[in-house]
Amino acid sequence: MNIYDVIVVGSGNAALCAALSAKDAGAKKILIIEKASKKEAGGNSRYTNGSYRFAYDNFSDLKKIIPSLKNTKRIDYGKYPKKSFYDDMIKVTKNKTDKNLTKKLVNNSHDVIYWLSKKGLKFVPIKGKQSFVVNGVTKYWGGLTLEVKGQGEGLVKSLTNIVIKNGVEIKYEFAAKKIIKKDNKIVGLKVSHKGKSKDIFCKSVVLACGGFEASSKMRTKYLGKGWDKAKVRGTKHNTGDGLNMAFEHGAASYGEWSGCHAVFHDMNGPKFSDLKIAAKYRKISYPWGIVINANGERFVDEGEDLRNYTYAKFGREVIKQPKQFAWQIFDQKVRPMLYSEYDVKTATKVKANTIEELVKKLKGVNSKKALSTIKKYNSSVSSEIKFNPTIKDGKKTIGLKINKTNWANKIDTGPYYAYGVTCGITFTFGGLKVNNQCEVLNRRNKPIKGLFAAGEMVGGIFYVNYPGGSGLTSGAVFGRIAGQHAAKLRNI
Ligand SMILES: Cc1cc2nc3c(=O)[nH]c(=O)nc-3n(C[C@H](O)[C@H](O)[C@H](O)COP(=O)(O)OP(=O)(O)OC[C@H]3O[C@@H](n4cnc5c(N)ncnc54)[C@H](O)[C@@H]3O)c2cc1C
Repeated sequence: MNIYDVIVVGSGNAALCAALSAKDAGAKKILIIEKASKKEAGGNSRYTNGSYRFAYDNFSDLKKIIPSLKNTKRIDYGKYPKKSFYDDMIKVTKNKTDKNLTKKLVNNSHDVIYWLSKKGLKFVPIKGKQSFVVNGVTKYWGGLTLEVKGQGEGLVKSLTNIVIKNGVEIKYEFAAKKIIKKDNKIVGLKVSHKGKSKDIFCKSVVLACGGFEASSKMRTKYLGKGWDKAKVRGTKHNTGDGLNMAFEHGAASYGEWSGCHAVFHDMNGPKFSDLKIAAKYRKISYPWGIVINANGERFVDEGEDLRNYTYAKFGREVIKQPKQFAWQIFDQKVRPMLYSEYDVKTATKVKANTIEELVKKLKGVNSKKALSTIKKYNSSVSSEIKFNPTIKDGKKTIGLKINKTNWANKIDTGPYYAYGVTCGITFTFGGLKVNNQCEVLNRRNKPIKGLFAAGEMVGGIFYVNYPGGSGLTSGAVFGRIAGQHAAKLRNI
C-alpha cells in the first residue's frame, strides 16, 4: 500500500509552507491535495497583494531578504520591532489574542520570510500603498513593507514551483471529505475526485484548507443574520470542510467564531471574487472622506486609526446598516489620493459638481438627510490642525454623534465623488485549537495524534480586527511549524 509521510490539505500559502517545511524536516513522500482545479487552485492566498507583515529592526534585516535592495537617502524603510508587531496585535484584537500564538507569530515572522526568500520566493518593496513622500523622501510606516513579486498570483505560482522542485506531489480536484482514524491515530483521508470516493493513507495530515467564509450557511450560523448577503473576496472553495472534518474527531473549536475579516467592497461586485481584478473590488481609502448609509447617516469614525488597523473591521459595520450598503464620499482635494482600486472601470460610482447634485445620485439613500449630514460634518471640522496623511494628524470633528478623529477635511471642493460599497468578507477568525507543534487539540486539550492545522484554520489569533498582512505571515509561520512536526511522525 502507498503510504505518504505527510498529506497536506489545500494549496494556499499555509499548505505550501507546510509541505516545504515537512520536506526540510526529512519527510520523503509528501502529497498536497487540492479541492479546486489547477486553474482555480491556490486559495485566498492567490487573491492577496502578497504582502507579509513581519518584524524588522533596520535596513539590514530587509537586505537579508532582498540582497539587491539599495540603501538610498530617498527611501526610509523605517523599522518595525517585534514589540511594535506584538503591541499592534494586542491593540487591534482588544487584548483578546492568544498571547502564546501571537508571540510565535511575531517572534518567527522575520525568520519565516527569510526562509521563504532562501527557498527562492522573490520579495520587493511595496510601492505607493504603505509609504508616503515627505520632503522628497519616501517613508514607510513600517510593518507592511515587502510583498511578493507578482503579488498573490506570483506567490502561489512561485511557491508551487518551489514545492514541486522539492519533490512534493500535488493532486488537483481532490477534495478531502473525511479523516480516517485507526487505533486512536490519524492514518489517512477519504477524498473525492471527479465524483469518485477514494482512501489515501499517510502518517500525518496537515489541514490548511481555509476557513468558512465561502459557505453562506456557515456564515449565517456563526457570524449571524445578514451574513449570507456578504460578497466573498476570495476563493469559493473555503467552505469550512477542514474544520468540520476535524470536529467529527473531537477537535476543539477556538477563537472568535462570530468574527471575521471583512472590508468595504464594491456593492455590485460578483458573489465570489474573480482573479482578474481580485483585490480591486475593495474600497479602503475611506480615511480621506466620509461614509454614509441608506438613512443618509455616518456610522463609523473613518479616521479612527491608520487604514491598516481599521479596514478589516469596517466591512462588518456595513452588514449592520439598513439594506447593507453605504456610499463613500470624497471631494476633488482628496480624489488623487485614492487607491487605484477606485479607478477600475466597473467601480460603482457617481460624480457631481455640487454636493446637492451628488446626494440625489446616491441610489437608495435618503438624500435630504445625506445633505444635512455632510453639511453638519463640514461645519464641525476643526480648522486649527493641518491635514497630514502620513501620521494620525488629530484633525478632527467636534460635537458630532460619531466624530471623525483624524484627517477630517471639509468636503467642499467639487467635483464630488461617491463610491457604492457593501461588505466583502475576506476570511473567518474562528478555527481549531492547536498546541506549540500545531497539533490539533481535542476538547480535553489533548493532541489528536497525527493531525495538524495551519493558516486560516488556526483559531485564537485574530479577534475583532486584524493588522493588514498578518494572514500570510500567520500561514507561513504556523504552516512551517506544522510541516516540521508532521514530518516527525513518519518514523512511528
Ligand atoms: C482579496 C484578498 C486580499 C488579501 N490580501 C492579503 C495580503 O496582502 N496579505 C495577507 O497577509 N493576507 C491577505 N489576505 C488574507 C489571506 O488571503 C489569508 O490570510 C491567507 O491567504 C490564508 O491562507 P491559507 O493557506 O490558510 O488559505 P487559502 O490560501 O485560502 O488556501 C486554502 C486552500 O484549501 C483548499 N480547500 C478547501 N477545502 C478543501 C478540501 N476539502 N480539500 C482540499 N482542498 C481544500 C482551497 O481550495 C484553497 O486552495 C487577503 C485575502 C483576500 C481574499
